[in-house]
Amino acid sequence: MSGVAERAEEYRSGLESVGAGADGAAPAGSSFPESTLTALWLLGRVPATALPMPLLRAGRAGRGPGPDVREAAFLAPSGATLAGDVEVHLRASDFVRHGHATDPAYANVVLHLCWEDDRPGAGGPTPLPLGGSAPTVALASLMTVREVERLVALGPDLAATSPPCAGQREARERVRGEGRRRLAERTWRAWRLADRYGFDGAFTMLLERAVAASAGRVRESDERRVALVAAIHESLGADPVEALARRALAGRASFIAAMRVDGVGAARGAELAWNAALPLVAALAAAYDDVPLARACAALAEGWPAPRPYGRTRSLASAVAGGAEAPSGVTGALYAQGLLHLQDLWCSRGGCGVCPLSGVSNEAGSSEADR
Ligand code: SF4
Repeated sequence: MSGVAERAEEYRSGLESVGAGADGAAPAGSSFPESTLTALWLLGRVPATALPMPLLRAGRAGRGPGPDVREAAFLAPSGATLAGDVEVHLRASDFVRHGHATDPAYANVVLHLCWEDDRPGAGGPTPLPLGGSAPTVALASLMTVREVERLVALGPDLAATSPPCAGQREARERVRGEGRRRLAERTWRAWRLADRYGFDGAFTMLLERAVAASAGRVRESDERRVALVAAIHESLGADPVEALARRALAGRASFIAAMRVDGVGAARGAELAWNAALPLVAALAAAYDDVPLARACAALAEGWPAPRPYGRTRSLASAVAGGAEAPSGVTGALYAQGLLHLQDLWCSRGGCGVCPLSGVSNEAGSSEADR
């Protein structure tokens, strides 16, 4: 499959998680479900003339509860980038009917896209929870049902949907660089904790957080988590941080094994070692100018395998890889961390055009700056 076809498929598969609305029924005058309207948006096919501001980035399909589209970006009249969510409905009144008007998850909506505006004050903005409002765009008066279906069938408008980082070979190594930066920030925070609570105290706090965060969908009681933290401590002996440093020098298998107490599998053990132990041991190396330990930590980070994929970075990962899987030589935990770092610092704030991945030469075509 070509890169373009794969990207189109990515959009379509992303759309599968977008429901067709609570009632699923089309209003009079439309014969398509809500997901078709969401597709029109995500494929970059909503006419620019219908929008209140120039579109910079269509965003990605929302997965799970919350707005239909995340991280869209517009050029505000002030010249600043306005980034946020897009909520899609067949009828504008569904925003209230579906409970969004009082749900804080919808406070960052920057555009309410609907087929028809059936509210008493049709054409007005949509009031948001926590104050503020978003412009309402109703398409029924601007285009026909047949036109909507024809545009969706065309697939993505790549000029409208591809971010500047799409398909860049150089960008992949830069993502790992962002991952190193994220790890350095976490090491610095671990050092701050150790400064305040001592290295043992910091390890306990980091471990408690990592155990809670790594439970996933497993129901786990507070008592069970306390027991896991205690068991890991006990397995490391009287000086747990010193024991972790020795294991870091011995290599990844030994380092992860330090977390593998009864009930902690390989994947969770690796997650605990990455999130709690590695930043702390790196901070220990920095605090005591221990060069061999610092080198061991760097080697661990460079070779750490990729964790389970994060749903919220899937769209960015696919864009950077040009719609394909990133080659195995550039993936790994640092790559995954780099994607998270970019997502948090740039993508979610409308950073297209100014982020570290913008403006790198593009193997798949022109960069944003060239367009
Ligand atoms: S902000 Fe940067 S990394 Fe994120 S989508 Fe835009 S160009 Fe890509």
